[in-house]
Amino acid sequence: MKAQSHRDKEYGHYVYFGIAENLKRIISPTVYNKTTIKLLINIDGMPLFNRSNQQLWPILMLVFDPDYESTPFMVAAFCGKSKPNYVNKFLKECITEIRGLVEDGIDIEEVHFTVEILGFVCDTPARSFLKCCKGHGGFYACERCEVKGASIKNPRGNKKRIYANINVTLRTKRSFLEQYQKEHHKGWSPIVNIPEFDPIRGFLLDSMHLMYIGVMKLLLEAWLFGSNREAKISTSQRTYLRNTLLKLTNVPDDFQRKEYDLDNLSNWKATQYRFFLHYSSVGCLRKVLRKDVYEHFMLFFVASRILCSSELALRYTEVARSLLRKFVYLFPTFYGKDSQNINVHNLIHLADDV
Ligand SMILES: [Zn+2]
Repeated sequence: MKAQSHRDKEYGHYVYFGIAENLKRIISPTVYNKTTIKLLINIDGMPLFNRSNQQLWPILMLVFDPDYESTPFMVAAFCGKSKPNYVNKFLKECITEIRGLVEDGIDIEEVHFTVEILGFVCDTPARSFLKCCKGHGGFYACERCEVKGASIKNPRGNKKRIYANINVTLRTKRSFLEQYQKEHHKGWSPIVNIPEFDPIRGFLLDSMHLMYIGVMKLLLEAWLFGSNREAKISTSQRTYLRNTLLKLTNVPDDFQRKEYDLDNLSNWKATQYRFFLHYSSVGCLRKVLRKDVYEHFMLFFVASRILCSSELALRYTEVARSLLRKFVYLFPTFYGKDSQNINVHNLIHLADDV
């Protein structure tokens, strides 16, 4: 594979490996019996060493097909002392090649395939970087609707950004391209140059950051350490909950971490919050939470179970949407006026991604 690389003293090191070369390696036309290759893209930064600000920003892609197993491949990588300064420069080769593939398709072993970009799966800072839009914490940060955030002081006197309105105009491809709401945009994103691509629906809300280390973590912390009396549990309830979770056995192999010690909550990973939400929460919390707090949580639990099941999701999408809207609307009743942060707000848009 012939990689292109360049180095800029201020910019860092950048290597471009290419998409077509990788697809020719991954797709075997005798086995892959579809006519379209659908691609998912992931872009994120990661620190390389302790006590160093060197970071790596790979552009990864995955051929998305439930019937064709393949691993993600690296299209390009940037390495520098900060994140890439200029998104246009960072994505230039990648967008050019995507344009060619979407417009002309690709021939692999004399078989022609069309190529489609399904979407980007990235965390919030990476999405804001790629879309040149306001990041979380901004007044106009929601990527799906035109809600205006408000500043509110929490009981400790710290300012928080909340997004209370749930009946707001939704963003569309056109409203993004024409920048209807100027305050949402920080510039012109090169993403809009991808043919047929929808910059709103094409950036998936990432369930790991939103549901697990977003809302589930927020709820557990509110029950255990929060300042809101409605939701906080007593010391004896906390002991009961901790002991019940410590007795958990037979955690499926899908979950790498098997320990659920509430005294170690600050070190819990997304997979632990995921397991807690989907499997252990309902049984454990029934005897612990106040009845109305528990019933409020059930809105989130049931909606999550629906949306995470390929069978239920399509049949009950509207039920899940309505449960999540109710959950978000009632959230401040139990967790305080400063609790409707961007993760909580984004739950009203989650059903759109199913
Ligand atoms: Zn919104």
